[in-house]
Amino acid sequence: MTEALPPGATIGILGGGQLGRMLAVAAAELGLKCHIFCPDPDSPAFDVSAAQTIAAYDDRDALEAFVRSVDAVTYEFENVDLGAAEQIAALKPLRPGAKALEVSQDRLNEKQFLAGKDIPVGGFLTVDPFEPSARTLEFLFERLGETIVMKTRRFGYDGKGQAILKRDGGGLETLAGFAGQDVIFEAFVPFAREVSIMAVRGSDGEIAAYDVTENVHADHILATSTVPAGIQPETEQEARRIAARILHGLDYVGVLGIEFFVVGESGGEKLLVNEIAPRVHNSGHWTQDGCAVSQFENHIRAVADWPLGPTDRHSDIVMTNLIGQDAAEWRALAADPQARLHLYGKSEIRPGRKMGHVNRVTRRT
Ligand code: AMP
Repeated sequence: MTEALPPGATIGILGGGQLGRMLAVAAAELGLKCHIFCPDPDSPAFDVSAAQTIAAYDDRDALEAFVRSVDAVTYEFENVDLGAAEQIAALKPLRPGAKALEVSQDRLNEKQFLAGKDIPVGGFLTVDPFEPSARTLEFLFERLGETIVMKTRRFGYDGKGQAILKRDGGGLETLAGFAGQDVIFEAFVPFAREVSIMAVRGSDGEIAAYDVTENVHADHILATSTVPAGIQPETEQEARRIAARILHGLDYVGVLGIEFFVVGESGGEKLLVNEIAPRVHNSGHWTQDGCAVSQFENHIRAVADWPLGPTDRHSDIVMTNLIGQDAAEWRALAADPQARLHLYGKSEIRPGRKMGHVNRVTRRT
C-alpha cells in the first residue's frame, strides 16, 4: 500500500469529456481536486474542475508541467500514448498503469492477453499483412466460419473501424477497403444478449464489482443499460470471477469495464469477453443512482489509495443515453420523478453526440 492522497490533493485526468467530468464531480465530493488535461478548450470536464491544461496530448512539455502539478494521474480514454504513459509514471503514480493501456488499446493484444489467461473469447485471428484476395477470404471463412467481423486493431469505437464479411458476396471489396491497416478478424458471435460488469481494484489488491448490466446498442452506440440483467445467477458469478482474473492479471488499480457476449439461453448460458475498457464506462452510469458509491467515486478512491466503497445495488435501474436531440427533452425529463437526469454541459447538440443520460429508478425487485 502506498500513501493515500489526503483531502485537498489533486488528481490529474487525461481527457475532458463526460467521463472526466463525472470523475471530477465525484472527486470533489471527497474533498479532492482534479486537474484536467485536454486539447479541446470546450471540454465538459473544465466546468467542474479545479485546474485545466489545454494542450495537445503529444505536447511533452505541457504534459510534464501537468504531471508535476498533480499528486496522481488517471485517464478517461484508453488511447493514451504509451510513451506519454511512461513519462507520467516516471514522475507520479499512474493508475491504472501502462500495462492496462498496452493490452486494451490494441484489440489483438487484448484478445491474446485474455486467451492467455484462459478467459473465454470468441474465435479470432490476424493475417499480417493480408492480401485482399479470394484466397485470403477463403482461408478466413474456413477458420472462422461463414460470417466474420473485421476490426481495426486500434482506435475503433462505437462500431467505427468495423465491417462484416460474409461468404455469400461482397467480402472482397470490404476486405480491400481495409488493405494496409492492422486488423483483427473475429468469428461472428450469435449472441443472445450483451452484458457488462464494472469492477474495481485497489492498490492493495482488494476487489469489488457491481452487478452485471444488460446493454442494448442502437447504430453501434449504447442506447440502454438495465440492471438486473436477464441472466442466470451462475452467469453473474462467472462474470465476477472473470473480472477478478483480469484485474489481478493486469495488476490493475481503478475501475475496469468488461463487455461480454452471452451465448445460449438460460440453463446453457456462456460468457465470452468482447472487450475491456481501462476506465469508467458508459454502461456503469447506472451506479450513480443504483448504489451508495458510484463507479466514478470508486475509481477516484482507488486512484487516491482510499478504501473502496460498497458496490451493492439498492435499486433497479434503466439507464438511457441521451444522444443528439434526445437532450432537447430535458424539461420533461426533469419533471419525471423516476428519472434522474445527468447532462454533460455540452454547448452544441450534434447527431450521434452523447449529451447526457437518464437513470430511471425503481425499487429493487
Ligand atoms: P466493439 O467495438 O468490439 O465493442 O463492437 C461493437 C458492437 O459490435 C458490439 O457491441 C456488438 O454488438 C458488435 N460486435 C462486435 N464484435 C462482434 C462479434 N465478434 N460478433 C458479433 N457481434 C459483434
